[in-house]
Amino acid sequence: MSEQWMFYFDPNRCIGCHACSVACKQRHDRDADADDWRTVSHLSRGEYPDFEEVPISMSCMHCHDAPCEQVCPPDAIIKRDEDGIVTVDRDRCIGCHYCAWACPFGAPTYDDEGLMSKCNLCLGEGPGGGHGQPERQTPEDGGPTPACVDDCVGEAIKAGPQSEVMAEATEKAAERFEQGAYGKRVIVEPLEEDADLADAIREGDEPAGAITYEG
Ligand code: SF4
Ligand code: SF4
Ligand code: SF4
Repeated sequence: MSEQWMFYFDPNRCIGCHACSVACKQRHDRDADADDWRTVSHLSRGEYPDFEEVPISMSCMHCHDAPCEQVCPPDAIIKRDEDGIVTVDRDRCIGCHYCAWACPFGAPTYDDEGLMSKCNLCLGEGPGGGHGQPERQTPEDGGPTPACVDDCVGEAIKAGPQSEVMAEATEKAAERFEQGAYGKRVIVEPLEEDADLADAIREGDEPAGAITYEG
């Protein structure tokens, strides 16, 4: 593999506005009522007025170990050698949902045809998982910035080759990533305030383990 592409997320900068998930839907021309490829969950604890909340924006993280790929019976999920992006060959997908059970981020969605689709890091527009698309190019090389990164109001999301994203992360975030936070699948900044909730999130291996609701 040349270099694994990764997402980066900073919950301190995220304002929970959902512009990222709307931008994704628009770029890929998806129905308004289709499941989002990028979702914004709100982690919360306590009851009003003693109430804490942190928005978390998530999509497919293009995992280095790709649990979805490992369980897919017809080998419809492909982790690309050239950039580590996890794509779906919809001609091979049989709609069994095994990938949904294996995915720690709830990324796979199923369209009208019952076939798997998810974030393809904006490899191409329209439905599908990006199978057969050319290698991902950085904006400097003429490639598009992913829609969620482009439209993020708080500049909370970044994407790119791992070394570039790591170079822009804080020392703390890079250190936590190297120590295995979130299975080394995404680089997440630690929360600056709110020690209790921050600790709860840090302790969880996966975001799905926290108290969440989506909106
Ligand atoms: S986030 Fe889910 S769908 Fe994406 S590569 Fe990882 S396991 Fe597969
Ligand atoms: S739903 Fe499709 S992509 Fe997912 S595991 Fe089944 S065949 Fe593979
Ligand atoms: S667009 Fe940016 S600030 Fe708004 S919810 Fe998404 S990640 Fe958060």
